[in-house]
Order: sequence, then structure tokens, then C-alpha cells
Amino acid sequence: MIIKNFIDGKIISESKKTLDVFNPSTGEKIADVVNSNLNDFNNVINSSKKGFNQWSKFTPLKRSRILEKFKVLISENINELAKIVCTEHGKTFDDAIGSITRGIEVVEFACGIPHLLKGEFSQNVGTDIDSWSIRQPLGICAGITPFNFPAMVPMWMFPISIACGNSFILKPSEKNPSCAIKLAELFKEAGLPEGVLNVINGDKEIVDTIIKSNEISSISFVGSTPVAKYIYEESAKYHKRVQALGGAKNHLVVMPDANISQAVDGIIGAAYGSAGERCMAVSVAVAVGDIADSLVENIKSKAELIKVAPWTDEDSSMGPLISKQHKNKVEDFINIGEKEGAKLVLDGRNYKIQGYEKGYFVGPTLFDNVDKEMQIYKNEIFGPVLSVVRVKDYNEAISLVDNHEFGNGTSIYTSDGEVSRHFTTNVIAGMVGVNVPIPVPMAFHSFGGWKKSLFGSNAMHGMEGVNFYTKLKTVTSRWPNSIRTGPEFKMPTN
Ligand code: NAD
Repeated sequence: MIIKNFIDGKIISESKKTLDVFNPSTGEKIADVVNSNLNDFNNVINSSKKGFNQWSKFTPLKRSRILEKFKVLISENINELAKIVCTEHGKTFDDAIGSITRGIEVVEFACGIPHLLKGEFSQNVGTDIDSWSIRQPLGICAGITPFNFPAMVPMWMFPISIACGNSFILKPSEKNPSCAIKLAELFKEAGLPEGVLNVINGDKEIVDTIIKSNEISSISFVGSTPVAKYIYEESAKYHKRVQALGGAKNHLVVMPDANISQAVDGIIGAAYGSAGERCMAVSVAVAVGDIADSLVENIKSKAELIKVAPWTDEDSSMGPLISKQHKNKVEDFINIGEKEGAKLVLDGRNYKIQGYEKGYFVGPTLFDNVDKEMQIYKNEIFGPVLSVVRVKDYNEAISLVDNHEFGNGTSIYTSDGEVSRHFTTNVIAGMVGVNVPIPVPMAFHSFGGWKKSLFGSNAMHGMEGVNFYTKLKTVTSRWPNSIRTGPEFKMPTN
């Protein structure tokens, strides 16, 4: 089977080059995906231009009504979408449903676009002069997305961009491209005109073509930090508006006064859920003071019970990693951690499941006594590997979080309101939790980290999304019957 592009409402492609798509649970190749070329790209641009000309003239209310139908269709097809995600990504069925639901919430937010686009108005900014602001679409927007959320991350982008009146080109991860196509088909079924949402498949080559195109106004990127930085810097050369979200190393601080069982449950789900392949996964537990021994013991005993299995097993809590290369990378990091002298409490290497021996499974892995100079602490591993760092007090804990190069999310478990308030006010990270392990903002707030976790000035969705996908215009207006004073050469003051 060849997975093609979705261009102008049709499944087509011109390039004969393809890339392999695997089922991570079995390790089998299940499809080829087209590696698009310039002809495919030109087709996408022609379609997107046509789409924009038509769509930008739809009133916000008409756009909203199509989004409402789209929302209903996603809900009706959620099981099928989840199966596509599970087959190409490997996450468990419930987790896939949860991630699509998070995407639906962005569509629900975007349905409010008539309200969200309301500008500001001031009467009499000067004598008989009124002023107001309007938000207008950018034109053709592009989104480049990672493998770990094939439904949710694209839905952080295109529903809001399209609600704002833009046309949108989505370049999904080449590792699991099918979900994007299905979403585009559903949007078409909801009444979206052809060319408003196009999906183009491929790898770096097509991304570079997107960056260099003068026809595209903005790029939204989510992926690893080196690529996010590259996209941000290159796109600026071509005068694009850009938001580029990168990698993470999220710390969860456990204070001695925390409810330990809640903290352990929070850590287990956040460290090992989706096999640690979430940008908001907790990969560092910071044990403060004398809580460390009991924390490590409790995490170990719960992590050992996690059922690792393919998504087709209803009892599975954790599936495989995305690829053989990634499994090797994660296992290499476990080797490195051992050599660096961290204490390997739970070892997930060489994890075998009967009947799925070629699947890319790594079991829950736990390191204790990790220190900030170690490679396993500094790098994003993006697998089910949790490092425990022991610190003497709160000050040492917050400075650890602050000095890490990533600043996506962080959490604190404590029963002390003063400590919690100090943490939320001062910690250097974009998304902060208090007694909440994964503080992912809902669709009507905005999602984005700090430091090397986000390049650009706008986070995703919420009002940040509306602002990113629109240009601000401010009108100052006076009607001719007002008193005329002839030419003025000084700055007006009233
Ligand atoms: P990735 O950076 O390898 O790929 C992301 C996208 O960029 C893909 O569509 C890919 O085709 C393209 N790409 C890859 N290499 C490229 C290159 N050299 N030039 C141009 N384009 C290129 O990321 P991934 O492995 O798919 O996803 C995992 C990463 O994404 C992790 O680092 C994770 O933390 C991050 N992530 C971050 C967030 C966030 O909100 N900050 C959310 C999800 C995932």
C-alpha cells in the first residue's frame, strides 16, 4: 500500500520515491509513504491559493458551522482514528482516544471564532476620530508535526488556522502519516472547500521546500530541539512567521511533605505512559530530603507491575517505541547511564513479548542517584526511562529545574502553599503543575515551553494560536464633515 498526499480534496501524488512505514508492535513494514517532490509541492500551493481565496471570504460564523460538523465527524469516527494511531504509533487504545479527545477540544475552541476574532474599538481617540483593530488571516500556513501525537499535535494547529480564514498545508511525520489524511477527509466531509486543508508527505526535503516557498506565510513546527532551532532560523531568512516547539526534560519535584502515594502514581503515569514518548513526560523525579528512599522503592514496586504489551491487548498500559533505531537509542542511553555510575534499579533492556519479538518494546527503566553532569540527565531520551536525582532541599530542587537547558513543563508535589506559590512564580518553565504530574494546558489556554523547548514568540492554541494565525490591522477613521484645520505638521495631540 502507498500512502499518498491529500491535495485539493483528492488522494494523489506524483513522486515515485517512498519511505517505509512500520507497525512498532510487530516490527513489520505495513506501508510505503510517498516522499513528495517539487511537482507535488506545486500542486499543493496551487490548491492552497485557490482554497484561501474562497475560504477567507467565508464569514467567521460560516467557518464555525463547518468546524462544528467536523467536530461531530471526529467524534463519530474516533475509534477508527484511534486504531490508525495505534497501528502506526503503538500507543495503547485508551491513550490514543485521550489524545484525539485533546484534539477535539481545540476544534471546540476554534468553533468560537466569531467571538475570538472580535477586535478592540475606541471612540474619539482624537476629536471625531475613531479607531479599531481587526485580525485578518495570513494566507497559506504550514504545519510540520512529530510522530508522537499523530492526531493531537496537527489539531493544535490547523483547526485554529483554518478558523481564522487561512488555508493550511500539513506535513505530518513520515513515521505515521495516515491519521492526518483521515482527518483531512473528515474535514472535507464536513463541508470544508477543497484546497483549504492539504496534506503533503515526505521528509526533510519537502520541509526545506516549504521553508523556502514565498507563497507560505507561516510555519508551525513541533518536534525535536535541533530541528525546531533549524526551522526557526531558516524560516526567518524567508521572512516567515514561525513558532517551533522542541524537546523537553521535565522534572517533577517531590517535597518531603508531599502525599507520597499521589506523587508515585503521578510519576508512574507521567514517566511510563505512552512509553515516555510525550513531550510532557516526566523524565526526572527530584527527591527532596529524606523522602528519596521511600520514593524510589515505591516507584520501583509500581513500575514492575506495568503491563507492557501491544495495543491490541486491552490490559496494556504501555506499548512499544516508534522504531528500531529509537529503541536502540534508548537502550544505548541505559548502557551509558550504567557506565556513568547511576544506580540501575529497574532495567527495561532486551524486553521480549511472546509473539511480538520483533516489536520495539523497552520495559520501564529506573535510575537512582543520577547527577546533573550525566548524559542521561542532560539529554532527552524520549523513552520509558526515569532518572531520580536526590537533593537536600527545595532551593537545590528549583535550581536544578532552572538550570536545565529545556523548560517545557515541570511539577511540584507538596502540601505547603508557600512553597507551591514560590515554585509557580519563580520556576523557569512554560507549563507548571502543582500536585498534577502533566500540566498540559487545555485548548482554551496555550501550550508552550520556555528555553530550548520553544523558538518563536507564540505558544500553540488558545489566544496565542489566534494571534499567531492572524495579522493585526488597526484602523483610524474620521469622516469629512468634521472640522478641518488644513495640513498639520506636528504630531496631533488631541
Ligand atoms: P523530529 O524533529 O525528528 O521530526 C519532527 C518533524 O520534522 C517531522 O515531520 C520530520 O519529518 C521533520 N524533520 C525531521 N528532521 C528534519 C530535518 N533535519 N529538517 C527538516 N525537517 C525535519 O521529531 P520526532 O522524532 O518526530 O518527535 C519527537 C520530538 O518531538 C521529541 O523531541 C519531543 O520532545 C518533541 N515534541 C515536542 C512537543 C512540544 O510541544 N514541545 C510535542 C510533541 C513532541
